[in-house]
Amino acid sequence: MATHLKDKKPLHLAKMNIKKGDKVRILTGKDRGKDGTVSRALPQTNKVIVEGLNVVKKHIRPQGQTRQGGVIEKAMPLHVSNVMLICTECGEQTRVSIERRPLGADQKERPVRICKKCHKAIADNTRS
Ligand SMILES: [Zn+2]
Repeated sequence: MATHLKDKKPLHLAKMNIKKGDKVRILTGKDRGKDGTVSRALPQTNKVIVEGLNVVKKHIRPQGQTRQGGVIEKAMPLHVSNVMLICTECGEQTRVSIERRPLGADQKERPVRICKKCHKAIADNTRS
């Protein structure tokens, strides 16, 4: 079986539909059902970090004079399959399709994410 080929998939093919600034719903784990905003997208690993969710407590040892010891809370990355994008138009969790639509001031055709439920373009908050 050629299962090893899976690892050789070029990185640029691993395209995610979820970007920084998107609202997502967590589908698994202790924060299941909660909504949050993506603070970081990690396309190389197909993961996202959602602000304030999937938080683990980390015990930090003091290091010299610069770092204090104690317990800090850190948001751990979630796999994109464990979160679902929330549409900016209808507010429902949805899958998306990519379509080219005229967008922006120049009305140039750009690939945009389309909500599978209301078929409207999902707003991209990356540049705001
Ligand atoms: Zn929608």
